[in-house]
Amino acid sequence: MDVFTHPEFDGHEQLVFGHDPATDLRALIAIHDTSLGPAMGGCRMWPYASEAEAVTDALRLSRGMTQKSALAGLALGGGKAVIMGDPNQHKTPELMRAMGRVIDNLGGRYVTAEDSGMSVADLRTLGEVTPHVVGIRDYQRTDGSAHDGDPSPATADGVYRGIRASVRARLGRPELRGLRVAIQGTGSVGRRLARHLAADGVALSVADIHAASAQALADELDARLLSADAILADDADVVSPCALGAAINPQTRQQLKCSIVAGAANNQLATAADGVALWQAGILYAPDFAINAGGIIDVGSQYYGFDATDVDRRVAGIETTLGTIFERAYRDNIPPETIAEQLADERLAAHSGK
Ligand code: NAD
Repeated sequence: MDVFTHPEFDGHEQLVFGHDPATDLRALIAIHDTSLGPAMGGCRMWPYASEAEAVTDALRLSRGMTQKSALAGLALGGGKAVIMGDPNQHKTPELMRAMGRVIDNLGGRYVTAEDSGMSVADLRTLGEVTPHVVGIRDYQRTDGSAHDGDPSPATADGVYRGIRASVRARLGRPELRGLRVAIQGTGSVGRRLARHLAADGVALSVADIHAASAQALADELDARLLSADAILADDADVVSPCALGAAINPQTRQQLKCSIVAGAANNQLATAADGVALWQAGILYAPDFAINAGGIIDVGSQYYGFDATDVDRRVAGIETTLGTIFERAYRDNIPPETIAEQLADERLAAHSGK
């Protein structure tokens, strides 16, 4: 397996292979870029079919974190850790501590957070052996609710603001009232986003492969319940992918009837060509790494010790950043995800003097 000529290799600073014989930990940490600050990004535990698949994931996701933090104006670089294994079968406190030691050996160049297959409790176990962990601090939000380390509320708030920016840019409407939004995935982010939108008078459709979760939300908010197969094709103004990646692919994009795609999921576009196709079809896409930055803002705040007011202010900034991206996209007739990458690169270059 080649790394320096790997299609996802993008001048990464470091790729670390971690192994612990006692627990059979097999893990990778990719540090993409630390010009803005320490590389921060979640730790994912996943039953990868091969080492090559894990390397691809770590390289790709760590680059995305550099772009996400740069665009959000955070003094953080991009990194990602992956543990090879099934979280339901192979996760033990000893394995978590072994991973914590691999992270600790990097001396703070990589700071970890939650991702798929990992919980706040797992992060606390990692935190027993390394201080380079975020997303485990309790504090009180500005609305008085308790924060237990879960970044989903900040992510949902950012996506809600991103939908407002998208609606203003594409439909020329300053308010969401009366619009229809279809949410794919009613998990931690999707259900919170739905509540924000319902409070604004939006007509909602929801779907989840766990039908009971979508049904409960539909009952709570008087939303329309759709099947997971039908949600993307719903006759809505906005489709909001809040489930897994690659929601927008050659098959699904043919079915879209919406004007806007704006959701929380990472890697919503299966390929860059899908983004170009959306743009050409007149569908405005809110780049995932711009709209879902609430989570990194929230966990990043714990690293730098920002207070809850500062987190709110920075999450609110997602609306302004997306407004700038869309303005440039329409001005230059370039898809928004390309503009977002350019903006992130500009911020990186301005800092590193390149
Ligand atoms: P979650 O696991 O709590 O919820 C995801 C939901 O999607 C689950 O209920 C799942 O059953 C459902 N789902 C999966 N496949 C589906 C399909 N084909 N159709 C319909 N529903 C489907 O995850 P989450 O924390 O809500 O995150 C949602 C997305 O946003 C993920 O892609 C995540 O990577 C991304 N994201 C989350 C955060 C955060 O703060 N939680 C931050 C940035 C990005």
